[in-house]
Amino acid sequence: MTTKRVLVTGAGGFIGHHLVHKLKAEGHWVRGVDIKHPEYEPTAADDFAILDLRRLENCLVATREVDQVYNLAADMGGIGYITAFLASISCNNTLINTHMLEARRLNGVKRFLFSSSACVYAQYKQKSPDVTPLKEEDAYPADPEPGYGWEKLWAEELCRYFWKDYGFETRIVRFHNVYGPLGTYDGGKEKSPAAICRKVALANNGEEIEVWGDGEQTRSYMYIDDCVEGLIRLMRSDYHEPLNLGTDQLVTINQLVDLVCKAAGKTVRKRHDLTKPQGVRGRNSDNTRLLNVLGWQPSVLLEKGLATTYKWIESELVGQSGELRKSAA
Ligand code: NAD
Repeated sequence: MTTKRVLVTGAGGFIGHHLVHKLKAEGHWVRGVDIKHPEYEPTAADDFAILDLRRLENCLVATREVDQVYNLAADMGGIGYITAFLASISCNNTLINTHMLEARRLNGVKRFLFSSSACVYAQYKQKSPDVTPLKEEDAYPADPEPGYGWEKLWAEELCRYFWKDYGFETRIVRFHNVYGPLGTYDGGKEKSPAAICRKVALANNGEEIEVWGDGEQTRSYMYIDDCVEGLIRLMRSDYHEPLNLGTDQLVTINQLVDLVCKAAGKTVRKRHDLTKPQGVRGRNSDNTRLLNVLGWQPSVLLEKGLATTYKWIESELVGQSGELRKSAA
């Protein structure tokens, strides 16, 4: 394997931080860029720059003298966050992705990976908890999530145009719900697995926790180690079209709570709050194309990944006195 000079944007965030570690372990030179440093441990990057990538001049600095770009920077969060801030999320991400593609063109970077999302899939195909797993072509005719989903779908198109017009190697990955240690677990941007781990960790045995919606909505979840493995495999491949990266282990949110409780060794009662956003009714990944293209698919079982994630979040919530910090509830 040849050593590469790699840029990871969003390297202060969850997936970017893990990806930097993996790329360093594989022997590459890595530059991380973000508007913040990683929250829970120092970066492993050779060079880490604080740059706002909504600005073209900062994207030009970030993309200098690198062979590959993993563009993970985005204004994003869980369902509560992405449904609350449609305008700012759309504007911020449109600026980041447009300027990153243009900077990459101006600096002649060879390969560019864009992190898209299962939120691009047509909402009318996700109305049942018993959803048919989504194939890549199910993004059209377009009806993505408002704001975040539309912006991701448009950025996918932009990647295609840059490939078509300039012949640049572009990769497009559609993540399905990534979870694991070192991810945001409080403050409003957390996703369902982290939020549930936090609530269960803070509850005493037999107490009640709040669950958004009736809990019968379904999703599939991918452990972070599988996510970064898939990213690196996709970058290495010669595939230009959007590709699912997720598991097809479908669970309801109620089942997710039960799995976290099992990991915690606790029993809790669920109080369903029907006023809270819950997103589409069902979403699952069809991995047929992923298997064809990469000859590989994520394999970490949800039970195992959740046990590791729960342990990390619980340890984070334990203050210096050894008491759980109730203020994080
Ligand atoms: P994250 O929020 O932890 O990381 C994103 C990072 O981008 C953050 O550290 C943030 O500070 C940074 N960022 C935001 N605005 C920026 C700006 N103007 N300039 C520079 N950096 C900026 O999220 P994540 O879970 O690591 O997601 C990484 C990518 O994967 C994102 O593009 C996201 O949309 C996509 N994605 C993630 C999931 C998931 O389940 N985690 C699912 C689908 C898609």
